[in-house]
Amino acid sequence: MPKYIFVTGGVVSSVGKGIAVASIGTVLKSRGISVAIKKLDPYLNVDPGTMSPYQHGEVYVTKDGAETDLDLGNYERFTDIECTADSNTTSGQIYSTLITRERRGDFLGGTIQIVPHLTNEIKSRFKRLADRSGAEVLLIEVGGTVGDIEGQPFLEAIRQMRNDVGKNNVFYIHVTFLPYLQSTQELKTKPTQHSVNELRGMGIQPDAILCRADYPIAESLRDKIALFCDVEKQAVIPLTTASTIYEIPLMLEDCGFGQLIVDKLGISKREADLSEWRALVERIKTPHEPVNIALVGKYVELNDAYYSVREALYHAALHHDRSLNLFWVQSEELDKDEVENALRTAQGIIIPGGFGLRGIEGMINAARYARENKIPYLGLCLGMQVMTIEFARYVFNSEEPNSTEFDPDTKYPVIDYMLEQKTLQTKGGNMRLGNYPCRLVDDTRAARAYGQSLVQERHRHRLEFNNKYRAELGEAGMIFSGLSPDDMLVEICELRDHPWMVGCQFHPEFVSRPGRPHPLFRDFIGVAEDVFREGAQPPLPLETG
Ligand code: GLN
Repeated sequence: MPKYIFVTGGVVSSVGKGIAVASIGTVLKSRGISVAIKKLDPYLNVDPGTMSPYQHGEVYVTKDGAETDLDLGNYERFTDIECTADSNTTSGQIYSTLITRERRGDFLGGTIQIVPHLTNEIKSRFKRLADRSGAEVLLIEVGGTVGDIEGQPFLEAIRQMRNDVGKNNVFYIHVTFLPYLQSTQELKTKPTQHSVNELRGMGIQPDAILCRADYPIAESLRDKIALFCDVEKQAVIPLTTASTIYEIPLMLEDCGFGQLIVDKLGISKREADLSEWRALVERIKTPHEPVNIALVGKYVELNDAYYSVREALYHAALHHDRSLNLFWVQSEELDKDEVENALRTAQGIIIPGGFGLRGIEGMINAARYARENKIPYLGLCLGMQVMTIEFARYVFNSEEPNSTEFDPDTKYPVIDYMLEQKTLQTKGGNMRLGNYPCRLVDDTRAARAYGQSLVQERHRHRLEFNNKYRAELGEAGMIFSGLSPDDMLVEICELRDHPWMVGCQFHPEFVSRPGRPHPLFRDFIGVAEDVFREGAQPPLPLETG
């Protein structure tokens, strides 16, 4: 039977609970323990796929095509485990399954209640993940903070688990925040005490408290939290803000938290090996020359909207011993006169995914600037479509070419809906989603990057390159370097007369890992780092004498 670790949050959200969970996964995995991770999201949407990035940040896509919370991206990047649809459950999914079953007559004669029907449905999702993953430890994060009204059924379900599987098989971790008071220059523990009280009110006594704080946490504060919250002192874990998130697993391990968890859960003793992780953090902390990358998008006010893109760029820069200097450019404001000013220092330009018309013309201006000035360019999904529209406008010498998403009546629909997408009446969960194979065409930049002939990449889009334009754009210099195995879909395109301008119809950012950057990101940064732009200083020659 697997062991369960449940992680709840208190005091405030956004203190890095997801990173803490991912880091606990890393610490366990470093002992050779198999782990599966799950996030419970209390909102009523079935998945975040229909939410604006302003509401939710990035939608992370799993290999099996689930649209999920961005925390799953951190789980994957930290533990290098591939998540599935079983790794994210929302209240919307639970209610919708239960009500469908009720209508079918599964409970004829009965009254359907939060306890036990809804909580049983939640627990059945734990079991499903346990059965399908076969993992020794299930790490389950409850989204939101304790006290949120929608989160109550999840807390009740994890409370019941203690009796269901036995108290030696569950471990409850509460992640809180210690605010700093400027006037008295001290961290305060009272909100943590209150939030633990709230959790106890739900019948859950935490086994450990992870205290997030922006300042060092004194021993006396750990004593106080241990006393007031009835937790062993060694289980009050100080987690001060780190210079890089990738340091968190080391902080947890070095304060003995990994050992504490395995001891408490009675998992046989195994040595932790975090040597690769230590080397990675060492490398991150070494000062490097910057590489300037402009990210042109419409959700740039909220960095979380492009979370995986930012991480993938960071991994690629690190691979080339560069630090990433990423600047965010609002595409809505990028008219033709502004583009030179906004992008003149960019050594590389990236256009990420997105939906809807807002900001599209600005992105097209950025793509034109990259093509004309031979600046390395990487287009991700929408970024590939934008690159195609821009190139078609140049080739046909017309402002008409467009995607039918933005102009349904365009004379040149170079990006268009697939037939099955045209007839859809609903919006949720029915894009081209998850892994699809892509065959690389020999002697192209894409094939050189991958060094493989067939790859799987994750998708999330409705529209595709319109094959009607393949011949004309191909003759003008667009190379179709990645295709579906049946040749019907363009998955990657690039420009012949340009140092490195590549667009892909999928989202490579989701599979980049800190020690293993995605090949397209790696080569994009590899070319960008050698580009000299206005105001840049060439690296000084090393002193020899
Ligand atoms: N809006 C485009 C489409 O649906 C691109 C989607 C994306 O970038 N993920 O095809």
